[in-house]
Amino acid sequence: MNTNYHDDNGDEVDSMLCIPFSRLIKSGFIITKCSDNTVLFVNVGGEAVKEEGNCAISVVADRFFDGGDVLRTDERIIDAGDMPAIYQSARFGNFSYRFSNLSPGEYFVDLQFAEIVNINGPKGMRVFDVFIQEEKVVSALDIYSIVGANKPLQVVDIRVSVGLDGVVVIRFQGVCGSPVVNGICIKQASRVPDQEEHEYVICSNCDTEIEISSCQKQNIRIKSTAKLERKIEELKNLCQLKSEECYQAWMSLTAANEQLEKVRMELDNKYFQNLRLDQAMGKQAAKLKDISSRYEYDKKHWLASIRELERKVETMKQEHSQLSSEAHNCADSIPELNKMIFGVQALVAQCEDLKLKFSEEQAKRKKLYNQMQEAKGNIRVFCRCRPLSKEETSAGYATVVDFSAAKDGDLGILTGGSAKKIFKFDRVYTPKDNQADVFEDASPMVVSVLDGYNVCIFAYGQTGTGKTFTMEGTEQSRGVNYRTLEQLFKVVEERKETFTYNISVSVLEVYNEQIRDLLATAPASKRLEIRQASEGFHHVPGIVEAKVENIKEVWDVLLAGSNARAVGSNNVNEHSSRSHCMLCILVRAKNLINGECTKSKLWLVDLAGSERLAKTEVQGERLKEAQNINRSLSALGDVISALATKSNHIPYRNSKITHLLQDSIGGDSKTLMFVQVSPSEQDLGETLSSLNFASRVRGIELAPAKKQVDANEHQKFRLMVDKLKQELRSKDDALRKLEENLHTAEAKAKDKDQLCRNQQEKLSEVEVQLASKTELSRQLEKQVLRLSRGMKEKDEICSKFQLKVQEPENKLKDREHTASMTLQHKEQSTYSSEKLQVTPNMVSVLKAEKDSPNIRSLSSTTRTINVESELLKGTDSLRELRRKKQIQSKGSENSFNSFLLSAPLVDKRVPSAESNKARQIDPSKAFSRITRSGTKSVTTGQRAFSDNNFNRDQVRGGKESSSRLKMWLR
Ligand code: ADP
Ligand code: MG
Repeated sequence: MNTNYHDDNGDEVDSMLCIPFSRLIKSGFIITKCSDNTVLFVNVGGEAVKEEGNCAISVVADRFFDGGDVLRTDERIIDAGDMPAIYQSARFGNFSYRFSNLSPGEYFVDLQFAEIVNINGPKGMRVFDVFIQEEKVVSALDIYSIVGANKPLQVVDIRVSVGLDGVVVIRFQGVCGSPVVNGICIKQASRVPDQEEHEYVICSNCDTEIEISSCQKQNIRIKSTAKLERKIEELKNLCQLKSEECYQAWMSLTAANEQLEKVRMELDNKYFQNLRLDQAMGKQAAKLKDISSRYEYDKKHWLASIRELERKVETMKQEHSQLSSEAHNCADSIPELNKMIFGVQALVAQCEDLKLKFSEEQAKRKKLYNQMQEAKGNIRVFCRCRPLSKEETSAGYATVVDFSAAKDGDLGILTGGSAKKIFKFDRVYTPKDNQADVFEDASPMVVSVLDGYNVCIFAYGQTGTGKTFTMEGTEQSRGVNYRTLEQLFKVVEERKETFTYNISVSVLEVYNEQIRDLLATAPASKRLEIRQASEGFHHVPGIVEAKVENIKEVWDVLLAGSNARAVGSNNVNEHSSRSHCMLCILVRAKNLINGECTKSKLWLVDLAGSERLAKTEVQGERLKEAQNINRSLSALGDVISALATKSNHIPYRNSKITHLLQDSIGGDSKTLMFVQVSPSEQDLGETLSSLNFASRVRGIELAPAKKQVDANEHQKFRLMVDKLKQELRSKDDALRKLEENLHTAEAKAKDKDQLCRNQQEKLSEVEVQLASKTELSRQLEKQVLRLSRGMKEKDEICSKFQLKVQEPENKLKDREHTASMTLQHKEQSTYSSEKLQVTPNMVSVLKAEKDSPNIRSLSSTTRTINVESELLKGTDSLRELRRKKQIQSKGSENSFNSFLLSAPLVDKRVPSAESNKARQIDPSKAFSRITRSGTKSVTTGQRAFSDNNFNRDQVRGGKESSSRLKMWLR
């Protein structure tokens, strides 16, 4: 009997069926095999089928489904049984069937399958599970591997219990590719099939029950047992072998893992080292950038400065050349300058000569002036008559003075009736003449004091006739004293080029023949006496000599003296009239041209009243006072008289006043006397007395003989005076011209000198500047050179640093490369050592070991890196670096991944002889498979290496490998 109900892959086929007593039948549906208790038969994906004859089975159209698609074919299904049509339509995809309204109880489900090709459905492999009531009834069913293409396959007698809800749910779920089913048949279970009870076996190909004898049965059993025992023995040996292999592999894997770990650690170290280097490089780059930017900035700055300096140097050079040319010009003009110097020297000599001449001329002028003054008279007498006072006018006093010939210096006094006495004076001032008129005539005399002559001006007359008025005056109409000093300062200012003057003022009072210093702040300890210091110079030792610089100071001094003047009391006039007030102006002059020094005095004397003693009704002290006044005035008269008569003896010492005025009256000295008279008839006697005294002083008696001067002589004298005057004027002009010439020559010489000096200074200055600028530019150039050298050094350092950075990077890359190479090599060596003996089980072992500590350590390392990367997320740059590193290390990671994948690859690369064996593909099947997949160029061998194939093997070997691993671990 050729009953072959168990073929070689019977075990594997059985492992697909999860429900006991369910069977696979590798042929089509046979109606006769179908029992009467069929509840429902669905032609999946097709229409209802009505069979002819006595068969009561009705196949209904495709209903009850949920999901999936329909596929149909017109291909002939080989060995399709009685109803081939049901195999020509099918449902594929993920779908389920729900049958309801079934009465509760036990049922059998038969499933009709066929691997139909040349359809419009999905190509490729179909491995799928079938669940009934959510219980897996068929596991990883691959129709093709069992029956091939276009052949039917039945899974029958899948026992299922239907509950009170009367529902049966059949779900198809793909494991690889989409599930497919052609028919579903639900049968009422009347009995539990028990093959043991039967005396027959069922053919697995045609489901035919074959009756066998007990002997045969015994033989089969024995054979089967022996076969099984042999198989168990073989399997044990194989298991032992595989366990050892596994152990070896595991050991080598552990070692590889350790090495991998090491490499990883090293890689990590390198990575961090690289990171650090990157950071350092980044810093250095930033530094370098900073330095270079600074350098750029400095360079720009220095370039600008250099340019500026160059420009300056250029301009300086230009200036220098200009100055040089100027200097050359100057040098060229030196002969001219020399000529000029000679000219100037000649001018100076001329000037000296002129100076000499000028001095001589000045002396001559002085002499002439003096002569002129002398010609006018060294003693001059001016008569001044005051106006009638209000009192006199109101009292009705008449005027006894006749001014009809006043212009000629004649003053007539009406002595009573028609009698008229004529007095002759140098000048006669009427009451109408003011202070300025009076001074105008006195001023030439005053100026003599600056020429070194002593001058004395005094006012004589009865009290109340205007002595003080003439000399001091009032603030509104200043007198001679003030005007004299004013004139002096004016002339001093005019002569400041040629003379320096030192003017000091003393104010004295002579009272009762005693000298009193009116400027002294404290009373003198001893009597002031007159001493003769040198020939012709008398002075009072201890007297205050107030130095005056300007007219303001003069006024202050005058006021101080006036205030200090003793005030007596009598019934005629105030005390001032009883004393002589004397203002002494001491002039020290220096001729700046010839260095001649002179010392001269100007006395301005306000004499005491000259009224006769009889008029004063005084006794004792007042009498003595009056007597002293009279005596002193008489003495003055005597002195003047003696001088006029050119007497041998001049009685200066008879009174203090004449003694004081000794060097200012007589000789070269000029004397001017103002005789003050009253116009009132009341004062006629005193007026006559005063006029007589004055006439005596003038030295001209009223006597006609003396009065009448010879006309020819006079004319001659006048002519001489005029000539002298003219000469003087022309000399003055010439002098002035000479002075001007001298001044201009001097100024020119000075200017030239100054110009020459300035140019020389400028030249030396510019030379110094040029030298300093050249030095500066040289320094700047040096600095720039230094800077550029520094920059070069920096560049070199940077490039060195980059090289340094590159070195570890290259090393790292090398290491990574070597690591990956080693790994690959190891892989290959492992493979070669295994000599392609790794079976799909090995993959399962590797898969199982994913959870082993070593693998876990690997994954933990990966996790560590991830954590590190999390830490590094702090900065973008670090993340960026990390990203770069990831890109860089992708190769290494790939190598690592490839290592991880190497386990499946082991499976992939192993020639699937066994899998082929397991699948038992015959050439015709393989060919049909090619046509089914529709891949023309892909060969069967190539397909065996595809991932899908791996999955298929993996799935298949899953269960077995896990049990083997468990065994090995034990
Ligand atoms: P003396 O000093 O001689 O005693 P004063 O100078 O004091 O006299 O003069 C007496 C008065 O006469 C004063 O009030 C003075 O103002 C007045 N007087 C004198 N001379 C003149 C003059 N020429 N014009 C106007 N008034 C005068
Ligand atoms: Mg007076």
